Amino acid sequence: MNSDCLFCKIINRELPSDIVFEDEELLAFNDISPQAPTHMLIIPKVHVATVNDLTEADAGLLGKLVLRARTLADENGIAKSGFRLVLNCNGEGGQTVYHLHMHLLGGRQLRGLG
Ligand code: AMP
Ligand code: ZN
Repeated sequence: MNSDCLFCKIINRELPSDIVFEDEELLAFNDISPQAPTHMLIIPKVHVATVNDLTEADAGLLGKLVLRARTLADENGIAKSGFRLVLNCNGEGGQTVYHLHMHLLGGRQLRGLG
């Protein structure tokens, strides 16, 4: 828990969010500013600031993030049509919230990566 972190506050219910999944290790909620019909964020409950801060010990956790995103895509009817998973890292990567999060985007034709 990082008391200055927006997503830690969401995990602790200090800030409201539209939660779509929760277990002991992960939380998923709808993005407040959706860029596609489906736009969810899947996050670990443990505070990891960026991809740069991951260690070998986090390999299992990362796998669970991807598998949960896949399941959420399936539940939202976009597994077959297609979706995108994004991890932004630091400023030039477009990261604005410094608690690791995976974007799940889908429900329309996605283009470009810039
Ligand atoms: P990133 O730019 O990769 O750091 O993504 C941060 C994402 O968090 C953006 O897509 C924001 O719209 C989203 N976001 C910021 N604040 C909230 C919030 N309170 N609830 C849900 N999503 C949020
Ligand atoms: Zn945090």
